[in-house]
Amino acid sequence: MNFELPEHLEQLRNMLRRFVDKEMPRGAVAQWDADNHFPRDVFDKLAALGVMGMTVPEEYGGSGRDIIGTMMVIEELSRRSMAVAIPYIMAACYAGMNLAECGSGLQKQEYLPRVASGELIFAYGWTEPDVGGDLASVRTVARREGDEIVISGSKRFCSGAEFSDYIYTLVCSDPAGERYRNLSLVMIPTGSPGISIQRMASMGIKGVPTTDVSFDNVRVPVGLVMGGEDGWNQGWQMLTGAGLDVEKLEVAAMAVGIAAAALDDAAQYALERTQFGKAIGAFQSVQHKLADMRTHLEAARLMLYRAAWLSDRHQSCALETSMAKLFATEAGKTIALEAQTILGAYGYVRDFDIERYVRDSLLMPIIGGSSAIQRNNIAKLAGYAVKG
Ligand SMILES: Cc1cc2nc3c(=O)[nH]c(=O)nc-3n(C[C@H](O)[C@H](O)[C@H](O)COP(=O)(O)OP(=O)(O)OC[C@H]3O[C@@H](n4cnc5c(N)ncnc54)[C@H](O)[C@@H]3O)c2cc1C
Repeated sequence: MNFELPEHLEQLRNMLRRFVDKEMPRGAVAQWDADNHFPRDVFDKLAALGVMGMTVPEEYGGSGRDIIGTMMVIEELSRRSMAVAIPYIMAACYAGMNLAECGSGLQKQEYLPRVASGELIFAYGWTEPDVGGDLASVRTVARREGDEIVISGSKRFCSGAEFSDYIYTLVCSDPAGERYRNLSLVMIPTGSPGISIQRMASMGIKGVPTTDVSFDNVRVPVGLVMGGEDGWNQGWQMLTGAGLDVEKLEVAAMAVGIAAAALDDAAQYALERTQFGKAIGAFQSVQHKLADMRTHLEAARLMLYRAAWLSDRHQSCALETSMAKLFATEAGKTIALEAQTILGAYGYVRDFDIERYVRDSLLMPIIGGSSAIQRNNIAKLAGYAVKG
């Protein structure tokens, strides 16, 4: 067993911290949040560091699959702003990981170099107005017409669709077919005729507005089905493959990053805020809160990086990624709320970043498979789900 951080990861982390300090100052980040603004210029500068290619094989212009490194990028960006962290995930993971895992040879050649250079961003169009966790029941329909696919239906909570190049859309490609064998994933260009995108008002992840998307007989070439011709009706297998494990970890890494920022700010505030003639950090109740927050954060981070390590080795890690996602996102929520308590009234107002951390952390146990779904997975995978 070796818990030492390898030198290349230490360097990666230092590079990202310098980047965040220089390009993502707190004042600018607060303004992106207030304006619900995606800072494309900062995203482009991030791409110039070469981190978009950390999910892309070297032969396609990337630096090879490095899930630990990818999680570190997500964690460091999430410490400051979801308006950059989530678009990074949308490029490196939604586009890069999925194309590297499931794309046809042709698709890899065409798109992966563009992912590595930071040119491509994918949004996920999976959830629908009546379909949340039960994704196999999607009603957006795709039918073949010669060399084209025609898509009709509605997607909900499609985050970042406005600035994405493609919506990676889960469709029912054989309505009469067997469940789990009747789905496909299609890369639908956001500029296609027949698409309309409508913002939804939501609490957090400002900068990546979540949207309702409707497809009215949208036509795309069959080459945009993930996996090409062979990918038709293989969507569920792609969705639940190795990419799903990484997806759970992406959310865990965001939760760890937000929680780390919340802990840092709360610890600093406890040193500076004086009441009853002493720093509030002198009160044992505050010290104990900080101690619990630090302990939970440490455990969440260890679970995250151990699961990422398994994924890097292509070892089975569905159980570990579900446990990491469950623990890190629930711990992240608790840590952000405890930080808010330490700041008291100042934890509730926009002059401080804590209220943003709370808004963002509350989302993490919901997306990427809710905590209840992760508990179901864990019970099943660990063999505790006894049939009644
Ligand atoms: C801000 C935001 C951004 C999002 N971005 C995206 C995006 O970019 N793309 C996208 O496709 N989706 C996105 N989503 C959707 C998100 O992934 C869904 O919220 C999620 O899939 C769960 O769906 P639901 O919230 O409708 O919950 P439902 O599935 O309706 O569940 C409701 C409740 O019932 C519980 N529940 C459901 N099924 C079970 C079960 N089998 N066992 C036990 N409990 C269960 C859940 O845990 C939850 O508490 C986003 C959501 C939000 C709020």
